[in-house]
Amino acid sequence: MVTSPTIPSHTKARVLIIGATGFIGKFVTEASLLTAHPTYLLLRPPPLVPSKDAIVKTFQEKGAMIIHGVINNKDFVEKILKEHEIDIVISAIGAKSLLDQLILVEAMKSLKTIKRFLASEFGHDVDRADPVEPGLTMYKEKQLVRRVVEQSGVPYTNICCNSIASWPYYDNCHPSQLPPPLDQLQIYGHGNVKAYFVDGIDIGKFTMKVIDDVKTINKNVHFRPSKNCYSINELASLGEMKIGRTIPRVTISEDDLLAAAAENCIPQSIVASFTHDIFIKGCQVNFSIDGVDDVEISTLYPDEEFRSLEDCYEDFAHMIEDNIHKGEHKITGTKSVVEAVPIMASCG
Ligand code: NDP
Repeated sequence: MVTSPTIPSHTKARVLIIGATGFIGKFVTEASLLTAHPTYLLLRPPPLVPSKDAIVKTFQEKGAMIIHGVINNKDFVEKILKEHEIDIVISAIGAKSLLDQLILVEAMKSLKTIKRFLASEFGHDVDRADPVEPGLTMYKEKQLVRRVVEQSGVPYTNICCNSIASWPYYDNCHPSQLPPPLDQLQIYGHGNVKAYFVDGIDIGKFTMKVIDDVKTINKNVHFRPSKNCYSINELASLGEMKIGRTIPRVTISEDDLLAAAAENCIPQSIVASFTHDIFIKGCQVNFSIDGVDDVEISTLYPDEEFRSLEDCYEDFAHMIEDNIHKGEHKITGTKSVVEAVPIMASCG
């Protein structure tokens, strides 16, 4: 049985977020502030680029407290965790810095007061997924962090939220920032392998629900909203329906994706290797959640709705309309065709 220091029910856990200015970190920070948790953001020392500076100011206006420093300094991390009486640490650190979390874990282990640690996962179950290189190296780093956390005795939860709701570009790490393409829809393989798509806001919202739930201590929490399980053929049809146009479809074969991964262009080739694992090998759907270490989020919170992919694509349709008005997008497609096109080398 897992023992962990508990948080009195009348107080909100004090949360430290690392990577708050990042793609996933922003959703988690928004959700932490929305749920009125005392929220501390560990930011690397200034200067920040202007866009990130603006994000941080918005968070501060909503009550976030800023700490400047880095996580790969054990004494510093111990000091701030103690000084601010942090209960929960959530890391959404970027892929390049995953191993920096090892020092953070050392600090939490020494302190023995942290009630939950969420490492920078926010994707697949890295012990089950099996991407080719260069995605494999990133997963090996996430696996190493998992093993060190397990041995540390710090209570943890791994968020396996699968894909963010978006058109799954094979070469873009942050696909939800772009609407689906209008010139052609690239279909991976036969296009019938399914995957789960979760709105970024829901990634934040459900992450905050699990942080102090005893049922999620030392578990992998899988996000599998059944109504958001789509193949890429189905996604293409959804996109076409929402924008009211038919767009030409082209096939990107398994070999094309493997070739894009083998180019070893970082980060695009990492995304290509994950795209291959998702849409060719079915890494999100080829296992059942029945291990003692696993829990599916809908079973924990059956009354909580996930935002539907239909609604997310409605937003993309509005984004496209806006772009067309601004002259940034032209619609060319009218009739559906499927043809095979090779991916061109993109690594300059
Ligand atoms: P980003 O690259 O967008 O952001 C990384 C954040 O980490 C930034 O805020 C950055 O700060 C901060 N950071 C990096 N190194 C350090 C450090 N040493 N000390 C303190 N802060 C640091 O990351 P992503 O949001 O893309 O990735 C976060 C996680 O989410 C990853 O595990 C990734 O695999 C996963 N992910 C999942 C997706 C999905 O579809 N499910 C999609 C994308 C990512 P600074 O502003 O100073 O650079």
